[in-house]
Amino acid sequence: MIPFNKPPFTGNEEQYILSSIKSSKISGDGEFTKRCHKWFEERLGCKKALLTTSCTHALEMAAILLDIQEGDEVIMPSYTFVSTANAFVLRGAKIVFVDIRPDTLNIDETKIEEAITTKTRAIVPVHYAGVGCEMDTIMDIASRHNLFVVEDAAQGMMSSYKGKALGTIGHFGAFSFHETKNYTSAGEGGLLIINDEKFIQRAEIIREKGTNRSLFFRGMVDKYSWVDIGSSYLPNDVSAAYLWGGLEKADEINDNRLSSWQKYYDKLQELENDGMIELPTIPDGCVQNAHMFYLKVKDLDERTALLDEFKKENIWAVFHYVPLHSAPAGVKYGRFSGVDEFTTKESERLVRLPMYYGLSNDEIDTVCNVIKKFYGK
Ligand SMILES: *Cc1c(COP(=O)(O)O)cnc(C)c1O
Repeated sequence: MIPFNKPPFTGNEEQYILSSIKSSKISGDGEFTKRCHKWFEERLGCKKALLTTSCTHALEMAAILLDIQEGDEVIMPSYTFVSTANAFVLRGAKIVFVDIRPDTLNIDETKIEEAITTKTRAIVPVHYAGVGCEMDTIMDIASRHNLFVVEDAAQGMMSSYKGKALGTIGHFGAFSFHETKNYTSAGEGGLLIINDEKFIQRAEIIREKGTNRSLFFRGMVDKYSWVDIGSSYLPNDVSAAYLWGGLEKADEINDNRLSSWQKYYDKLQELENDGMIELPTIPDGCVQNAHMFYLKVKDLDERTALLDEFKKENIWAVFHYVPLHSAPAGVKYGRFSGVDEFTTKESERLVRLPMYYGLSNDEIDTVCNVIKKFYGK
């Protein structure tokens, strides 16, 4: 059996979790959380990093910080996870979906401007598969129309666009440490990156149930009280201890994934040259993190047949994202701007291959042989 995913485990997590437990400070913002914050601020080069309980919650925090109100519009691709939209729908926003580019499956930056109305407040680019969206264009549109940019960088840890870490380019960046992502904090977790200093203090308050507790701990106010809306968005320190085990080996994990990605690519290139399949594109200026290895087949029927072959061989290859605009809640809370030229078509052709830290050469061979056999090679 070849699983689709294995949560990253480097070996030091057990020791760190134990040490967190023994410190008797296992609630939020303990020693391991502080270490992680510092690592992100230095490594990504951002003003402020705040661990959250999930990427979903990091996105919710961004929506609260932007004061998204009933009737505001937020632009994003339809080819994404539900949380990208839900975070803004929870504040009453209408979601305006824009088509994706067929090469990266990221939002098509050339179609954003025509989706903007007087109600538009924010653009939410999703860095699909950890490959950067065309951020120069997106930031230019945002500044000309006075819009905020929230990067859904759930899949993008360790990736960059023109030398800048994903998540550090827009006003906010949201990352996921779910077990299916490149780095995990014991299964569920996330991170909010704040790139505009004016949001930092309020972000700390919203994350701490709407109280100024973190100012209190820093001795900046003499009692802490309820000052704003908020929720409990900070994770326990035991989760951060697990994450620290991964961050310490961040380059090793990244290199290992990139090497698996390249092996898939090299072994499948012949099929692409023969016009049977399409392989991912990494645009110039983008450095990726091998979050995903996907290929695109001819159509939905061919994908169903290929997935059946994988199932027979006990290999867990998957597809994902029923485009949000065609899902029941997407119909209710959103609208598609322009024509769906690629979103549905590309989503039906996509197959994700097993990808995780520690994937072996033999496993990669086995997976590729199923594909080659399927195409008669
Ligand atoms: C995984 C993912 C999320 C949600 O992350 P959680 O940490 O599970 O909340 C959001 N957006 C995208 C694009 C994702 O891949």
